[in-house]
Amino acid sequence: METEEVILLRFGEIALKGLNRHRFEEQLIRNLAAQVKHHGRYEIQKRDGRVYIEPQYSEEMTLNQRRDLLEFAIDKAKKCFGVVSLSPVLKLTKSSIEDLMPYVCELCEKELRRGRRSFKVEAKRSDKSYPQNSPEIAAAVGEMILDAHPELHVDVHEPDFILWIEVRDRIYIYSEIIAGPRGLPVGTSAKTMVLLSGGIDSPVAAYMMASRGCPIEAIYFHTFPYTSDRARDKVLKLAQIVSEYSGPIVAHVVDFTDIQLKINESCPEDLLTIVMRRMMMRIADRYAEFCNCPSLLTGESLGQVASQTTEAIAASNEVSSRPIFRPLIGLDKDQTIEIARRIGSFETSILPYEDCCTVFVAKHPSTRPQIEKVHRAEAELDIEALVEMGLAKISSYSVRSHKVSEISNYRPR
Ligand code: ATP
Ligand code: MG
Repeated sequence: METEEVILLRFGEIALKGLNRHRFEEQLIRNLAAQVKHHGRYEIQKRDGRVYIEPQYSEEMTLNQRRDLLEFAIDKAKKCFGVVSLSPVLKLTKSSIEDLMPYVCELCEKELRRGRRSFKVEAKRSDKSYPQNSPEIAAAVGEMILDAHPELHVDVHEPDFILWIEVRDRIYIYSEIIAGPRGLPVGTSAKTMVLLSGGIDSPVAAYMMASRGCPIEAIYFHTFPYTSDRARDKVLKLAQIVSEYSGPIVAHVVDFTDIQLKINESCPEDLLTIVMRRMMMRIADRYAEFCNCPSLLTGESLGQVASQTTEAIAASNEVSSRPIFRPLIGLDKDQTIEIARRIGSFETSILPYEDCCTVFVAKHPSTRPQIEKVHRAEAELDIEALVEMGLAKISSYSVRSHKVSEISNYRPR
């Protein structure tokens, strides 16, 4: 019998999108195809309103090479927004229930090794020409499993595992359901520009907006030599981790040192943080225009630090012409850390390199900056010249999950 291991994908939210459904599915399929294309040959197929990733196994492949092809795609699908769940599935030629049993037993043995003891069979016959109907298939398979594996028993209410048999164009059997990241496929919303620092929060914020379909572009304000190039590399590494979910990111590094020093020269100490944050916002806002990003994105959370009070947030909103997404605004640090751990950014975020906010931080920052005082402090600075200075000193990097490379002359799409 011809057998093949493929991956069945399930979509959630995108199924709700009515007429848009097609567009969302197509985007998801494009994203998946882009994620796996460098690793090997895969076909991504839509059949019966479902999507399958089919590794293209060849005769000369070893068992390990086949495993690797399958596992790689499972790993990518687990990180692909829009996927609610997925299952590795055995795809078999249509045949009698008796002939399916060796494959069913193989799955049962796998579940037994995982300590599972109770099961039920769910059968679904879409192909009405198959001789048994769904309840008959389920009953026959259930009985044969019990015969072959006396250590298993049936529990229809709370089984340890469900053995699925679907009779469609072929017969599909599986027992494992792996959770996907949910959300919307990246590319179904407009691009956003994240102010990415080396901390815990902003990579999580980027992940969250990617999960709402936004492609990500990143901007980092670097104050060399006050912050080392290792700090910059850490930010690029974080972008790389986010890119495993969001797809490729273009990350921009602004040489912020002279601007920072100018601010420090004239600004009252308690307003340093807010004036610095407003400079970052202005430069990000202007650069986002150039990069076709209609929104900005930060890792701020209300009340977390002095610069994240309502008043401080209002003061930084004032200098941006575009919406600023703050997906962590209502989370506390523990919740953010939990996400950071889950997506794999936490370990990198806590590496001990300083960011400019720690180097240039005021001892007693104003928690409720009065906007008139901020305006007065900024009147001492040639704001427009400083923004131009920042915009003139930007290096851009192409960030992909497997490599980072500098872009010599960045032209946004
Ligand atoms: P994070 O963990 O993301 O660094 P944080 O809790 O340390 O956040 P702040 O340092 O006050 O908070 O920064 C608030 C937000 O401002 C960050 O989430 C990030 O979006 C942005 N930001 C701060 N510093 C930089 C920087 N050097 N370059 C780019 N963005 C920055
Ligand atoms: Mg920070």
